[in-house]
Amino acid sequence: MKTFVIIPAAGVGSRMGARLPKQYLPLGENQQENILTVSVEKFSSLPSVDEVLVVTARNDEHAPRLHLPHVTVLPEGGASREETVANALSFLREKAKDEDWILVHDAARPLVSPNEIVALLTKAQELYAQGEAAGAVLGIPVSDTVKRTGDKTLITEDIARDRLYRIATPQAFPYGILLRSLSDRPERFTDESSAVLALGMKVAVVACSPDNFKITTPADLATARRLYEEKQGMAQFRVGLGYDSHRLEDHRKLIIGGQDIPYEKGLVGHSDADVLTHAVIDALLGAVNMGNIGLLFPDKDPQWKGADSIALLKAAWKRIREEGWRLCNLDCVLVAEEPKMNPWVPAMKKHLAAALNVSEELISIKPKTNEKMGFQGQKLGMSAQAVCMLMK
Ligand code: MG
Repeated sequence: MKTFVIIPAAGVGSRMGARLPKQYLPLGENQQENILTVSVEKFSSLPSVDEVLVVTARNDEHAPRLHLPHVTVLPEGGASREETVANALSFLREKAKDEDWILVHDAARPLVSPNEIVALLTKAQELYAQGEAAGAVLGIPVSDTVKRTGDKTLITEDIARDRLYRIATPQAFPYGILLRSLSDRPERFTDESSAVLALGMKVAVVACSPDNFKITTPADLATARRLYEEKQGMAQFRVGLGYDSHRLEDHRKLIIGGQDIPYEKGLVGHSDADVLTHAVIDALLGAVNMGNIGLLFPDKDPQWKGADSIALLKAAWKRIREEGWRLCNLDCVLVAEEPKMNPWVPAMKKHLAAALNVSEELISIKPKTNEKMGFQGQKLGMSAQAVCMLMK
């Protein structure tokens, strides 16, 4: 079962009165931290999410400059949100099965928390499996007293607030149900839950924080910026350090940073002996005090014999991400007398970035010789060091 995220970002947000479409207005100090990228990041960093799809307007000139690693940008926005979501669903037809999950999220709700997304998806899947509901949506419990008015804004009705929610996003439904709810229907819906309810199905609400509001006006944007800054200020940071070394021998493949490198010798070890990737794994594990590569993947265990170290990195990183950590940056030193490593650095960065699901810009790799000194300099082996910073 896979989980896809659809983020419709084709609207212009005219109520904001800004020169840029609303979703591109900055939230933090960095231009790259805009409303859309911050929203997207909440999903793309989740281990339970397989693919994030951002649907922009067809003529959106800002979209190509979006800094969104590992996200599919689909320039097929429709005239309405419904149409935009429907276009994304048809784009997914090749990949998604009816039972796969779709999370639809407003680009303008950047302050949703990863915990809320996971809680929603878990609840939706549970209720669906029990046959109790087709899916679920996040909702903000109403705390104000609510009244309906009639003519001349005179109050006509008191509405009990105890079960009232302001419906938010994400909204989680199985692909097949969502597709059916939006296909060839004469009615117009303002959100996916209304379309699913119109099929006669049940939808549950999972309560979320009022911070998950939709940025609509300049005042909303000011509030969102303040909250975002506050959350950044409360962030925890951790530094990790990793070191590894392996012996060189004839008749072994040389694999560094997931890259096969032509050379007369290769590194020896129980796994593929990818010295750089091992240092990276230890740096990441070290940052969160989760032990080291040997504890996680013991070399006595036949399971890891000849193992692809990039797969070990993915497995270790999945555990770390499940604790909510994100990578700020990773800096590595690779010590090898021969062969020349610089030409292979872009490929190594690409493999590591893909395994960590981050932008290559967060990864630095600096190859060095050891000036003919020591085991590296004598070409007896190679070593690597890595330092990382994580935040949550
Ligand atoms: Mg090693």
